[in-house]
Amino acid sequence: MAIAVYPGSFDPFTRGHLDIATRAAALFDGLIVAVARDAEKRHMFSLEERVQMAREACEHLPNISVDSFGGLVVEYIVTRGARVMVKGVRDSSDLEREAMMGAMNSALAPDVETVLLIARPEYAFLSSSLLKHVHQLGGDISRFVTPLVLRMLDDKSRDTRSSSDA
Ligand code: ADP
Repeated sequence: MAIAVYPGSFDPFTRGHLDIATRAAALFDGLIVAVARDAEKRHMFSLEERVQMAREACEHLPNISVDSFGGLVVEYIVTRGARVMVKGVRDSSDLEREAMMGAMNSALAPDVETVLLIARPEYAFLSSSLLKHVHQLGGDISRFVTPLVLRMLDDKSRDTRSSSDA
């Protein structure tokens, strides 16, 4: 069984992430979407919310499971009995970062291979941070996320607005 792991913050999970997960799930027997705990990063959504959104987006794909992890991603991959890490590449800055991280990860865990999938043109400009920014400014981002993610973004900005009004 060839199992791959697709790690990320997924804050929140977008249709760009879903596209990479769908394509990776077609290449491997199983795919684990692994949501990073990353306590030092400031996320809009809690770990549980990020897992929930990824799970809902992938539920129609039977060979995808969603999990969370903390610490070194290569250690997590080895623990799960996987040998492949999947990443998505949107532009040259993603590629530069992934090349550096891939080299470090192969030094740490020589048996783990990084597989890079090129973003589809319709999602190549899409990032979770840009999406949150546009949504906060009132832009329509509904085509880039699932209805659940849109609802959770709406709830979050309503909460933020009402706590800043108080
Ligand atoms: P970032 O790496 O920007 O903090 P994530 O950790 O959520 O965002 O992303 C997880 C992985 O998904 C990374 O490999 C990232 O390059 C990739 N990714 C993010 N958005 C897209 C997209 N729109 N199309 C393809 N890959 C993407």
